[in-house]
Amino acid sequence: MRLPIIVSIDDDPQVLQAIQHDLRQKYRKQYRVLATTSATEALESLGELKKKGEEVALFLSDQRMPQMTGVAFLAEARRIFPNAKRALLTAYSDIDAAVRAINEVQLDYYIAKPWDPPQEKLYPVLDDLLSDWQSNYRPTFEGLRLIGYQFSPQSHALKDFLAGNLFPYQWLDIENDPQAQELLDLHKLSRADLPVVVLGDGTALPKPELVDVGEKLGLKPTANESLYDLAIIGAGPAGLAAAVYGGSEGLKTILIDKRAPGGQAGTSSRIENYLGFPNGLSGSDLTRRAITQAQRFGVEFLAPQEVVSIHSEGQYKHIRMADDSEVVARAIVLSTGVSYRTLENESLDKFTGAGVYYGAATTEALAFRGKPVYVVGGGNSAGQGAMYLSRTASDVYICIRRPDLSETMSQYLIDQISNTPNIHVLSCTEVVSATGNERLECVVLENMDTHEQKTEPASGVFIFIGAKPLTDWIEMDIIKDPKGFIATGRDMGRYAEYKRVWKQSREPFVLETCSPGIFAAGDVRAGAMNRVASAVGEGAMAVSFVHKYLAEN
Ligand SMILES: Cc1cc2nc3c(=O)[nH]c(=O)nc-3n(C[C@H](O)[C@H](O)[C@H](O)COP(=O)(O)OP(=O)(O)OC[C@H]3O[C@@H](n4cnc5c(N)ncnc54)[C@H](O)[C@@H]3O)c2cc1C
Repeated sequence: MRLPIIVSIDDDPQVLQAIQHDLRQKYRKQYRVLATTSATEALESLGELKKKGEEVALFLSDQRMPQMTGVAFLAEARRIFPNAKRALLTAYSDIDAAVRAINEVQLDYYIAKPWDPPQEKLYPVLDDLLSDWQSNYRPTFEGLRLIGYQFSPQSHALKDFLAGNLFPYQWLDIENDPQAQELLDLHKLSRADLPVVVLGDGTALPKPELVDVGEKLGLKPTANESLYDLAIIGAGPAGLAAAVYGGSEGLKTILIDKRAPGGQAGTSSRIENYLGFPNGLSGSDLTRRAITQAQRFGVEFLAPQEVVSIHSEGQYKHIRMADDSEVVARAIVLSTGVSYRTLENESLDKFTGAGVYYGAATTEALAFRGKPVYVVGGGNSAGQGAMYLSRTASDVYICIRRPDLSETMSQYLIDQISNTPNIHVLSCTEVVSATGNERLECVVLENMDTHEQKTEPASGVFIFIGAKPLTDWIEMDIIKDPKGFIATGRDMGRYAEYKRVWKQSREPFVLETCSPGIFAAGDVRAGAMNRVASAVGEGAMAVSFVHKYLAEN
C-alpha cells in the first residue's frame, strides 16, 4: 500500500534537514516525508503526485522563502490537495502573517521556530492534525484507472480486456464521477479523448489500442523464440490445459490468445460443475490458477495477439499474427473455441456496447444497479448471467423461444432461478427491436404464439445465444463441418475431401486434423461437448498425440 505523504519546505538547508529528521524519526512508518528547499519545485511535483493518485496528508512550510511566502505556497497547494492539513513554520516576528493565514488559506496551525524539544512542541500538534486527517481519509485506488462514458463501446472493450487479463482497475464514469473530470483536467485532456487509461505511474493513454494497453501492463505481444515444439492458438480451458501438459512434459510451448486467457469460461460468473470444486469457482479464478500453472512450467504466453493464418512447410508450421510477426512450430493445437452469435437486428446492433452486450454479465453488471435488464437465451451461460445480474439489477427478464428452460438449462440453475424473486422467465418471447437515443432505453418484445408486441423499459440486454466457431481465418486444407467446426480423427472419413487431403500411411490420431501435426481441441472441434471439463480433457489429450507426432517427424 502507498503511504500518504508529508511535504516539508524550508529554503534553509539546515533547518530543512532538522525538520526532516524529526518528521522521519516519528512518522516514517505511516507516512512518506518529502522535503525540499524550493516552493516552486514542490508545486511542480504536487501535480505529478496527483496524477499518480497519491495522497498528501500534511504540508509544513516555512513562511519566509525567496520565491514565494509560505502562505502563498499553502494557498496553491490547497488547490491541488484540498483535504491535506496545512501548517506554517514561523519566526516570532511572522506570527501576524500566520494569524492572517488562518483565514486566508484555512491554516490549521502555526508552529514557532525553534520547535525543540519536538516531543513537546512539534509532535503533539502534528499528531493531532494527522489523526484528524486520518479520520476523514479514504485510501484512493492505487492501480490503473479507466475514464470513459458508461455507454460507450470503446469503454466496454477496454473494461472487457482489463477484466479478462485479470488487471484490477477503477472505472470512473465521466458523467457521474467528479474525480473523472478532475483527472482529465490534470492531464490536459478533453472528453473527445475518451476513453482514457491512467496507469499506476500517472501516465495517461487517450483512446488507446488494446495492444498498447497490454504492452504497458507487461503483456507480451511478441514471441521470444522463432521455433517452438508446440504452438497453442486460443487460451480458453482447452488451450490452457494443453499448455500445462505441453510445458510440464518438456515441450517448448507457446500459447497465443487474441484477447485474454480464460476464453468463454473466463467470462463465467460461477462454474458449478467442474470436478473438484464443490462450491463452484468463478471463471476468473479458474483462469488465474491455470495461467499461473502454465507459466510455472515455462510456457510463453502471448496476448493480445490474434493469429490470422497458418500454413505448413514440410514438418514446420508457420503461424502469422495480426501485426505480421511470425512464429514457427513443429506442432499446433487449435483451441480457438466459439463466440456468441449476434442477433442480426439493426436496431439492436446500434446499441452494441451501449446497453446491448454479448456475454459480458460480469463486466457490466454494476452499471445496472436498480435497473431492469433482459437476458436473451435459455442455455447455462444465460442462466449464470441472469443469476449474476440479479444481484444488482431491479429485475432480470429471461427471454426464451421455448415454453420453458427444461430442455436447455441444467436443473441446478433452473432451481436457483425459480428461487430468485427478481428473475422472471418470459417464455415464447423474442426481443424484436430496441429504442433509445445515445443508449438503449426500451425493448420491443413479441409473443411468438400471439404475435402481440409490447414495449418495455430496458437499461441492458445481455445476449447469450448459440455460438459459432472461430475458424474463418483458417484457409489451409483443413476439413470443417458445414457450420465451420473442425473435423478430427476418424470422423474425417465421412467427408468426401478426406481422401484427397490425407496422404499419410497411418490413420489420423484422435484430435488430429487432416493436416498432420495440427490438432484441434475444445469447442472449436466438430462433436465437442461444450463443457469446461471436456475442453480441459481434450487439451490434455491433444498433447499426448503431439508427442506421438513429434516422435515420428
Ligand atoms: C458465460 C458462460 C458460462 C459457462 N458456464 C459453464 C459451466 O458452468 N460449466 C461448463 O462446463 N461449461 C460452461 N460454459 C462453457 C465453457 O466455458 C466452454 O465449453 C469452454 O470455455 C470451451 O473452451 P475452449 O478452450 O474450447 O474455447 P473458448 O473458451 O471459447 O476459448 C477460445 C479462446 O481462443 C481465443 N481465440 C479465438 N480465435 C483466436 C485467434 N485467431 N487467435 C488467437 N486467439 C484466438 C479466444 O480469444 C478465446 O480466449 C460456459 C460458457 C459461457 C460463455
